[in-house]
Amino acid sequence: MRTITTHNAPATGLRGIGDTSWHTHGVCHGMDLDDADTTFFPLPRDHEAIADAKELCAACPVKRDCLNFALENVLKEGIWGGLTEAERRPWHDGLPQRLDYDRVIAVFNGRDVHLTAKERQVVIDHAYARGWRADRLSVALQVTQEHARDLLTQAAHKVFHRDLTQGVPQRRKKKRKRSKPATSKPATGQAAKEQPASRPVQSTSAHAPLGKAA
Ligand code: SF4
Repeated sequence: MRTITTHNAPATGLRGIGDTSWHTHGVCHGMDLDDADTTFFPLPRDHEAIADAKELCAACPVKRDCLNFALENVLKEGIWGGLTEAERRPWHDGLPQRLDYDRVIAVFNGRDVHLTAKERQVVIDHAYARGWRADRLSVALQVTQEHARDLLTQAAHKVFHRDLTQGVPQRRKKKRKRSKPATSKPATGQAAKEQPASRPVQSTSAHAPLGKAA
């Protein structure tokens, strides 16, 4: 059964099928099922029928959502979003590498979108960089909190290794000034001078970035 999910719903650990609220805005909405079948599933060489379907889709306000729906749900037959099976094939093949920031932003705005692997990684990296907690990421990606925690930990490791390999300097801790111990001897002829700290400043622990995800 198709359902509309939102980020107001508690995470169930089960993935929905994405936001389908656009369906009712399609030009083909309400069309007789047999007519729709004939119109949008023409034979591959029936150019006249294909042209008729494309004409309908061209005027459709939700053709982009329609195309996304076909890609996300691996619907390789028929005309979706104004594209035929052959025209959509490269999109299907390159889907895991697709990166559409509009879809990523839609997730941030609370829409349930089937993200590609690349888009999903952008959300995870953003979540780690902005210090999201696991429960927030779990709602955004519709995964369990445990899964979200693992994803944040992986993101932390990725940043740590990136900094190591790219030579990003680690932050240095500020050395606290030690208060000088009181001396019982009175100052002799020369005025007592404050001595500079002689120990070198030590760098922070190499695992500092990992602490962010804890
Ligand atoms: S793009 Fe075409 S197939 Fe998709 S909803 Fe619109 S009219 Fe229907």
